[in-house]
Amino acid sequence: MKFSPEKLKIKDQRMKPFIDADEIWEIINQTGSTPDRVREVIAKSLDKNRLTLAETAVLIKADDPALIEEIKQGARTLKEKVYGQRIVLFAPLYIGNRCTNNCAYCGFKASNKSIKRVTLDHDDLVAQVRALEDAGHKRLILVYGEHPEYDAKFIAESVRTVYSVKSGPGEIRRVNINAAPLDIDGFRIVKDAKIGTYQIFQETYYEETYSKVHLSGMKRNFDWRLTSLDRAQEAGIDDVGIGALFGLYDWRFEVLALVRHTNHFEAVYNVGPHTISFPRIQYASQLNLDKSYIVSDSEFTRLVAILRLAVPYTGLILTARETAAIRDEIMQFGVSQIDGGTNIEMGGYSKKKETEEQDIDLEQFQINDNRSLNQIMEELIEKKYIPSFCTACYRLGRTGEHFMEFSVPGFIKRFCQPNAIITLVEYLEDYAPAETKQKGYKLVQEKLSEIEDITFKNQLIEKITQIKTGARDLYY
Ligand code: SAM
Ligand code: SF4
Repeated sequence: MKFSPEKLKIKDQRMKPFIDADEIWEIINQTGSTPDRVREVIAKSLDKNRLTLAETAVLIKADDPALIEEIKQGARTLKEKVYGQRIVLFAPLYIGNRCTNNCAYCGFKASNKSIKRVTLDHDDLVAQVRALEDAGHKRLILVYGEHPEYDAKFIAESVRTVYSVKSGPGEIRRVNINAAPLDIDGFRIVKDAKIGTYQIFQETYYEETYSKVHLSGMKRNFDWRLTSLDRAQEAGIDDVGIGALFGLYDWRFEVLALVRHTNHFEAVYNVGPHTISFPRIQYASQLNLDKSYIVSDSEFTRLVAILRLAVPYTGLILTARETAAIRDEIMQFGVSQIDGGTNIEMGGYSKKKETEEQDIDLEQFQINDNRSLNQIMEELIEKKYIPSFCTACYRLGRTGEHFMEFSVPGFIKRFCQPNAIITLVEYLEDYAPAETKQKGYKLVQEKLSEIEDITFKNQLIEKITQIKTGARDLYY
């Protein structure tokens, strides 16, 4: 079915598709890339400006290893200059793997008869959320297959259930969603359940490839998916997450298309996407794909550095699809969120781990970072990152937080960094084993000693003391 605004009774012109593949290829093909030009473009980004498509293409076309290293160094400098050492942690929670689509890359595809189909019922869901809270999580992303059973009401209901579960001092303070596109009314229903971000990945922005890998089901409709987050915006959800599944088509095209998608939101809604994700294809049950566009590790790290420079004020999400080593490198480019202690097996969080092996018949794809949340916390602390569970902006209605971090002078020092410290102290008090606790407090002391404003520092020390004596959920 070809998308038609008239047929769907969408009079709003903003719902029109906005990706022109010929235009994107023309920009890539016609852009040259001299060392001087690459340096100019990096400098523009370091001056806190989003890059145009043509400028992003300059970085994409830089093939010389020394220039690629300069691009990566540019991304590292941007991170140090703007974002500091915080990194936000979350966990994905799979709610149901029933699916009516046939996406060639996904283990949940309808034609895969070897996978066990599971939808968490209320009690299962509560058990999963308890297990996540008991590990220390405060932020979740709920993930669903595309199926009539998982309609807007079902999604909203599961969000409400998640918020209602309290295990000891644990609670989930922000629930994000990764699910199929909805219509505007559907997005409104989900918004009313107080979701954080609604994520929908276009997978590939190249329509011809899109048609080849989406073999049947509603997801075949490229334009319905492309305009989905516009409908979310119309419904009042202004925190939206975009993404491309790298490995389906030429990575250079996908990077420019992600920048194009960002421009579209800025032009129409005056706010860019909250986050960009860049999943890379992993092994899945009955994976059936053309391997021509598989993205190597070196291309992958390079493309993330380019994205960082192209959209300097958008949050970047890096998941456990990638190995710890790749995650370590990419985090230096200013990734804002990573998942920790990830288990994408249906019902996996509350199960006792008898084996380290993953059950590919219960999972959408294989993950490559199996570290527990605490292991990740400890490693982050050792590397001087401040692991954060902060949800303050969302709770206080400060939408566009990444933009504020980026553009409001002192925002990170006054809000993000102290909130990261406060949520870290909560974790250290409630969940950390003795060794992590000791390392964590050492880092907290170091960070406190760096604060120059004495009044502010004393206020923060007061908040930390309150947490140590039982207060929770304090923030700026
Ligand atoms: N069913 C919904 C959809 O397709 O949008 C929701 C989520 S789907 C479970 C989440 C994302 O996982 C997809 O958008 C896709 O980008 C990614 N994914 C699917 N198969 C994958 C694979 N084999 N390796 C890595 N990521 C994959
Ligand atoms: Fe279903 Fe999403 Fe997997 Fe496609 S990617 S088969 S829609 S769960």
